[in-house]
Order: sequence, then structure tokens, then C-alpha cells
Amino acid sequence: MNDPRPYRFASHLACPRCEASYPLDSLQQLCGCGSPLLVRYDLARLTEAWRPSDLVERPWSLWRYHELLPLARPEAIVSLGEVVTPLIELPRLGDDMRLPGLVMKDEGLLPTGSFKARGAAVGISRARELGVTHLAMPTNGNAGAAWSLYAARAGLQATIAMPKDAPSIARQECALAGAHLTLVDGLISDAGRQVARFVEATGVFDASTLKEPYRIEGKKTMGLELAEQLDWQLPDVILYPTGGGVGLIGIYKALQELQAIGWVSGPLPRLVAVQAKGCAPIVRAWQEGARESRFWEHSQTRAFGINVPKALGDFLVLDAIYATDGRAIAVSESAIDWEQRRAAQLEGTFVCPEGAAVLAAAREMAALGEIDADSRVVALNTGAGIKYPDSRDLGLTLLRPDEDLPSHHASRRRFT
Ligand SMILES: *Cc1c(COP(=O)(O)O)cnc(C)c1O
Ligand SMILES: [Zn+2]
Repeated sequence: MNDPRPYRFASHLACPRCEASYPLDSLQQLCGCGSPLLVRYDLARLTEAWRPSDLVERPWSLWRYHELLPLARPEAIVSLGEVVTPLIELPRLGDDMRLPGLVMKDEGLLPTGSFKARGAAVGISRARELGVTHLAMPTNGNAGAAWSLYAARAGLQATIAMPKDAPSIARQECALAGAHLTLVDGLISDAGRQVARFVEATGVFDASTLKEPYRIEGKKTMGLELAEQLDWQLPDVILYPTGGGVGLIGIYKALQELQAIGWVSGPLPRLVAVQAKGCAPIVRAWQEGARESRFWEHSQTRAFGINVPKALGDFLVLDAIYATDGRAIAVSESAIDWEQRRAAQLEGTFVCPEGAAVLAAAREMAALGEIDADSRVVALNTGAGIKYPDSRDLGLTLLRPDEDLPSHHASRRRFT
């Protein structure tokens, strides 16, 4: 490509809480005030220099939006082949929940099997570009897996702390990639404190959720892709399974940036943060009209990616919800189980428990009359169902080699 424009339009890092600003090309963690930092772009210059038609000949990967990404040079890219994930129509499931306009963005097709690859691709690329050689993070599984594998790809070392109950495949991804993996008999919040002490003692780069500013830029590409896939016409509602909330904040940031450069117009979609009833700090805060959440004691859910009792960026998630007239909603474990099966049976999509939570929330909001039947609704399936092999009891029969298959299988286990 013969492109005379600059590769990058990012200008500086800014604190969304105290407005402090920091230079882009030095390594930063949190703002001095304790808030996460966000990457800011020269949107005025970008408005002049960049057109949707510039994208036409670019490869279908998140790097097609490099003008809204933080890398200084294309040579810095660390990639495992991040595809633009498909928007899948769900006509039967949509009819089933009286939301005929339901579509699902299926993040399970990304490298490492979850959308965490987006944050890792951009975060690792940028970390290496800034000279990081060793990073550390706590994880509920998928982030550690993605960052371990991308770190290996980039030649960086990774130290990962993971709750012992996290899905076993993520554990293997970390360990086989050569990360220094430690299991923690506790929650991600416990692992987070251990990582903080390790970082303090060693000076290793802290890649914890929102403690560095670039993971969110990677996750933001969900919003950029979605807008382009919908031909720059925004949907009415976007539902997102919210743990640390980076994906939701990222989608919101992406849509605001696209609005600022004039690529999308009209009201932003209502952003819906979906949590599990066993870990719903954002939902509780939203119900109270609060600007921040409180720690959720004894959190528990099979949807591991959203088992986050207190998120550093909770105030940004809540801002995004309030600003878009969205909401936060919690679903039960049985609704997650039921919806995962329903999606597989009606549509052939094997969604992860977090994705099933989102579909269950869409169903509930439709039933409550909170989403109109003619709405265009986007559900994010954040990972592949195949990443959670042992997480549910299927109640199957075990035969001896000489036994016959049960004859009633022909008519059972079907929805009408
Ligand atoms: C991490 C994760 C989430 C939560 O993502 P956040 O952006 O941190 O809120 C949801 N689903 C899956 C599968 C995850 O791995
Ligand atoms: Zn600040």
C-alpha cells in the first residue's frame, strides 16, 4: 500500500478522572490519582485525513483500524491472525425470544479462543514497542492464556496468577506457552493483590486489567468492527458480559471516536452490562444509581470471565451505561445453562457461558418489554464454548461395551 498519511494519530494519554495528561511514548501504568489512563487521538486531524473508503483494500483484521490504535510503527505488530469476527444472524433464537433483530458477534473465532486476543495483540505489541521484556497479570483464565501466548510470540516473559478453579484449558495455554504460572486458592481479586506485590518488589511491567492503557485499545476494535459490519449504522442495543468491563468501555470509546470523526451519527446504542447473579457489583451499583461499585463478597459463577468482584474501571462502565441510557442486569446460573443449550440447539452456535449470559439477558429484557421487538440488538459472545470442557454436568448415560443404546434417544432432547 502506498499511503502518504502518518501511521498513527494517537496524541497522548489522559486521565478520565483528574484530566492529567501523560506523554504517549513512555511507559505508563495508572494515573497518579489511581485512575486508569486512556489513549487520546488527534480526532480533528483524523477527520481530515481518514475516510471509510480507505479501509476497502485493507486486510480483514483489527489492524485495519491502525489510525485509531496506539502503535507508532507497523513493524511493531505482534499478530497471530486476528480475524474480523463474524456477525451471525440468530433468526430462530431471535424468534424464540421475540427479538427478530438479534445478531451475535462471535469472538470465539479469534486466536486463543476468546476476545482477550484483541487486548493481548495490541497490548503486547505496544508493550514490546516501549521496551517491556517481562510482564505480570492476574487472570480468570482467558486473559492469561492470550497474554501468555502473545508474549511467547513476541519473545517476552509473562508471570501469571490464576485462581485454581479457572478453566483448565486456559491453564494449559499459559503453562505450555512458557509463562511463569501460579495457581491461587482464591479469586482474581486475591491474585491481583499478589501480582501488585510482585510488581512492587521486582519492577516487572503490570499488565493487569486497566493498569496499562493499551489493552482497552485492542478491545475497542470490537466496536470499530461492529460499526463497519453494520455499514456505519449503529444498532439500538449492545449487550456485553461484564467482568473488568474493559470490553464495554472499549466499545463505548470506539463509538465515541467514530462519532467524533463523523463516521457514525445519531444516538449511541444502549449499552447493557450483563453479569451473573453470583457476582453483580456493577448491577448493584447501577440499581443504586451509584458512580462506583462496591466489592462483591463470595462471588461465584460458572461464567469465569465475569467473576470480578470489584473492577478498577467500574466508574467508566457505569458512566457508559448512564450516558447511553443503558442498564446493568444479572442472570442466574440456571438461565446461563439453559440459554447455552438453547443457542446450541436452535442455532448450532456453541457459545461460552459469558455469551450465554448475554443471550439470557436479552431474553429477559425482551420479556420485560425493555427491548422492543423491532430493535437491532447485538449480543457479544466473548469466547468459544469449547474453552470450558468440564464446567457443566450433562447428565449422560454411560454404557458398558455390551449394552444397547437407549431407544428413546430418537425422540428426546429436542426443542419444538
Ligand atoms: C474476560 C472475559 C469477559 C469479561 O470481559 P471484560 O472486558 O473484562 O469485562 C467476558 N467473557 C469472557 C469469555 C472473558 O474471557
Ligand atoms: Zn488522574
